[in-house]
Amino acid sequence: MNGYDLAVVGGGPAGLAGAAAAARAGLSVVLLDSGARLGGQYFRHPAEGFHAARPGALHHGFGRFLRLAADVTARADVRLNHRVWSVERGADGVVVRCLAGDREERPVTVTARRLLIATGAYDRSLPFPGWDLPGVLTAGGAQALLKGDLVAAGRRIVVAGTGPFLLPVGAGLAAAGADVLGVYEANPLAAIALRARPLPGKVAEAAAYGLALLRHRVPFRGGVAVVAAHGERELTGVTLAQVDANWRPLRTRTVACDTLAVGYGFVPQLDLPVQLGCATGPGADGGPVVTVDAGMRTSVPGVYAAGESTGIGGAELAELEGLIAGRAVAADLGRRVAPAPALPRRRDRLAAFAAALQRAYPVRDGWHSWLRPGTIVCRCEEVPYSRVAEARRLGARDARAIKLLARPGMGWCQGRVCGHAIASLAGEPPAPPRRPIAQPVRLGDLAAPPDSGTEPGQAPPKEIR
Ligand SMILES: Cc1cc2nc3c(=O)[nH]c(=O)nc-3n(C[C@H](O)[C@H](O)[C@H](O)COP(=O)(O)OP(=O)(O)OC[C@H]3O[C@@H](n4cnc5c(N)ncnc54)[C@H](O)[C@@H]3O)c2cc1C
Repeated sequence: MNGYDLAVVGGGPAGLAGAAAAARAGLSVVLLDSGARLGGQYFRHPAEGFHAARPGALHHGFGRFLRLAADVTARADVRLNHRVWSVERGADGVVVRCLAGDREERPVTVTARRLLIATGAYDRSLPFPGWDLPGVLTAGGAQALLKGDLVAAGRRIVVAGTGPFLLPVGAGLAAAGADVLGVYEANPLAAIALRARPLPGKVAEAAAYGLALLRHRVPFRGGVAVVAAHGERELTGVTLAQVDANWRPLRTRTVACDTLAVGYGFVPQLDLPVQLGCATGPGADGGPVVTVDAGMRTSVPGVYAAGESTGIGGAELAELEGLIAGRAVAADLGRRVAPAPALPRRRDRLAAFAAALQRAYPVRDGWHSWLRPGTIVCRCEEVPYSRVAEARRLGARDARAIKLLARPGMGWCQGRVCGHAIASLAGEPPAPPRRPIAQPVRLGDLAAPPDSGTEPGQAPPKEIR
């Protein structure tokens, strides 16, 4: 096998830190990311120049990102606009298959002795009447628009769901000039405060967001959920419900708005590790995460994972895990790496906090009561809730049987959006995804003979964009 010492998939905090650590130890590293710019979700930023006027305005630690990105770009081959759709183990390493380019994609194959998977997470969505209307978007989507394009998602915006992420989304939209009508957390605030074991830094961060909301006169309420969205062709309003501890509506009122940003936490992106056969286990919220040891090694020799694929924990933990993984790869390939016993201890502390935080924001089953027979639960296959209920009546006991009978999760996104909801309706924890292809590919690309691969030194000019 030719190629690099290490291939890193993902250019967010975890992938960047992993690539930098491994390259600093003398390894040849290639970093692949489907995006047009480095940074992943947390450090998402607009094109250069556009951002120059307000560097770091929407980020904590943007200077650290710039230093990390410059380090990686100087020492590693950075391949942006490279969507990895398949990884497999070869004779003495891994074969990574990508589609490269913006519109006219071309197949690219990369080989490496080791692989670091740092593919992050995506928004967890729940269905409710009207959630498929234009004007309803995920909290992460609204944040991505704001950070990536400096665009507020709407004019009159309701932010709702559960999780600490709602605070920066509401605060960011308000600061961008949107009329944020409220940030509504479905879990009761008192219960959250009791369950979370705060770290001083995080309390300060939450307080800063709280102050920002106050400054913009944005109400922040607990125990309130959006249970329906209204409009003919686009969103014109939402029904807000005071909910009980299990999220069953008690009292409702309707609010006029043009945009709803709604999110129920994040789901780790596990397609590539599952493709390779990496073991997974339940994360703090019961959903699957990649199982790793203290050096971020997965159960598959030569394959490492860092960041949100090992559990939702935020950018600081992701970066630390990337650093640990990069150092472990270097040590495993025989490079001298100075001992740093504080790193695993710090990881344990941050991971324990992240787990406590996730447990403080549970997704309660009461959301099932928001559904109506015609509510679409799988948007790709347009499966209404009535078909899922019918499958249950016909004897479907688990998510797989519901999928076979009613087709949710069989469409374009392959259950990425509806998977959590269908598992919950089936009364079981979400299962690891079984998708042999991690990204949509054309049949022609599947059939095409592999290209000659790319080797260290053949990379296009390095750039941070
Ligand atoms: C939409 C969204 C917005 C978020 N915004 C914030 C925020 O503003 N503040 C905050 O604190 N947290 C935010 N988060 C949480 C965020 O995920 C973490 O805080 C942090 O970015 C995790 O770092 P990571 O390196 O694990 O993953 P990420 O930062 O998500 O990086 C993963 C990278 O992997 C790439 N990738 C994934 N799959 C492939 C593939 N098959 N081929 C090639 N590349 C691939 C992605 O393009 C991405 O760049 C957001 C999450 C999401 C989903």
